[in-house]
Amino acid sequence: MLPKTETVLNFIGGEMREPQGGAWLENTDPATGKIYGRVADSGAEDLQAAVDAAQAAFPAWRDAPAQQRAACLRNLADLIEKHFEDFIRAESIDTGKPVALARAVDIPRSAANLRAFAEAAVIFAGEEFENETSHSYTLRRPHGVVATISPWNLPLLLLTWKAAPALAAGNCLIAKPSEVTPVTAFLLSSLIDAAGFPPGVFNLLHGRGAGIGAAIAAHPDIPAISFTGGTETGKAIYAAAAPHLKRISLELGGKNPTIVFADAEFDAAVDGAVRAAFSNQGQICLCGSRLLIEEGIYDQFKAAFLEKTDAIKTGDPLGAATQHGAMVSEQHMHKVLSCIDLAKEEGGKILCGGESLQIGGRCKDGFFIAPTVIEGLPQNCRTNREEIFGPVVTLQSFQNEAEALALANATEYGLAASVWTQDDATAERMAAEIDSGIVWINCWNLRDLNTPFGGMKKSGIGREGKWRAMQFFTEEKTVTRPK
Ligand code: NAD
Repeated sequence: MLPKTETVLNFIGGEMREPQGGAWLENTDPATGKIYGRVADSGAEDLQAAVDAAQAAFPAWRDAPAQQRAACLRNLADLIEKHFEDFIRAESIDTGKPVALARAVDIPRSAANLRAFAEAAVIFAGEEFENETSHSYTLRRPHGVVATISPWNLPLLLLTWKAAPALAAGNCLIAKPSEVTPVTAFLLSSLIDAAGFPPGVFNLLHGRGAGIGAAIAAHPDIPAISFTGGTETGKAIYAAAAPHLKRISLELGGKNPTIVFADAEFDAAVDGAVRAAFSNQGQICLCGSRLLIEEGIYDQFKAAFLEKTDAIKTGDPLGAATQHGAMVSEQHMHKVLSCIDLAKEEGGKILCGGESLQIGGRCKDGFFIAPTVIEGLPQNCRTNREEIFGPVVTLQSFQNEAEALALANATEYGLAASVWTQDDATAERMAAEIDSGIVWINCWNLRDLNTPFGGMKKSGIGREGKWRAMQFFTEEKTVTRPK
């Protein structure tokens, strides 16, 4: 049986613990606007307890056979699947995302993350080098106590994406999920013991970013931190970590273009662009929030895009048919609505949406925004340069490949892009020239967990993905002897 979610506790040294300072945060269901639980708001003394527990567990976990670490990760994946329905429901309630999305993406991917790194744990190896005079090889050793700090948009998926390589590589972990969506991390922590992890290997601390998050970033005995979240938060963590020369991986914001050429397979491109714009209410770092369309098909594509957008089923996230649920919080809903107001002030024309949605019934006080499409804005306005992180997409037209490329690259971000064309040469030239860590050709968010994942420019530093994450969570040593 999983624990009740009304009280979300820390997990330190193999035990559920209340915050030592006695501070709690409220947890709100964004679909109803009702408070449905409280969350530990951890402080420095909780962090020290977690660091102590992790340090004590580290030597044995580091020296355990890789097969043992892999088995614990696989067991945890099995346990998520055993409680699949509970995890799906909990993720939907905590985030406001449609239950169908949690079923299709969040929870299966969380189990897949754990399995991918169970496999990596046993295969990961160093390299060999040889020349006329010497033979060398590399050893990779875990850092010790490492931390992960993760956001609210894909709570369990992104926590496991970071925790799994950290643990697979032999580190002990302090994970800090978002205080906005802590529940599935808490449920996961209740399964750690049953999965076979020794006490202290996996620790979970809840609480505010400015409180426990900042304390983790500055703690001298946590030499590596993997962070996913906003660019401003990433900068703060980078600055706090700098005096300690911590290893830092930053996965940050995006302002991603979806680029549609006139020769694209039309229906597939419309479907892909709608999915890219509005999945998870536009709250995915990879979402295509700038839709760039070649001039010759602009009107036709716009009409088809609006028709598809209009057909998105908005409603109660727990409704089986719902495709578009609630925004994660009241605060975030107001932030996105203020971005829409700014777009109007900048001269944007709202083609659909543009306001909060009234759902009624159990969701009458929930935080919903209609899928919103805006046109008529130049690239150099704030709406087209700054991340909104909501169900808001702007349309722009381009005349040729050079202009498409210039528009695509005209932001400070560089996370992902998707290019739609039937001409391979165009696709490959664009892929080579776009400043982003990920380029999808004729698809969006098609993921292979083995591939490097991350952003250029202000979208981040470093890459995740199977081997890159294993490298991040280890320190490399070169050993040389003469021949
Ligand atoms: P956020 O930056 O507000 O919070 C992320 C995490 O950082 C939370 O756990 C929060 O408590 C913590 N935090 C906040 N301030 C902190 C501080 N000073 N020190 C340490 N920790 C702190 O982000 P969010 O609003 O939860 O998530 C949305 C953002 O995440 C968007 O910008 C989105 O693009 C980005 N994101 C990026 C990726 C990616 O892979 N690049 C994936 C998902 C989300």
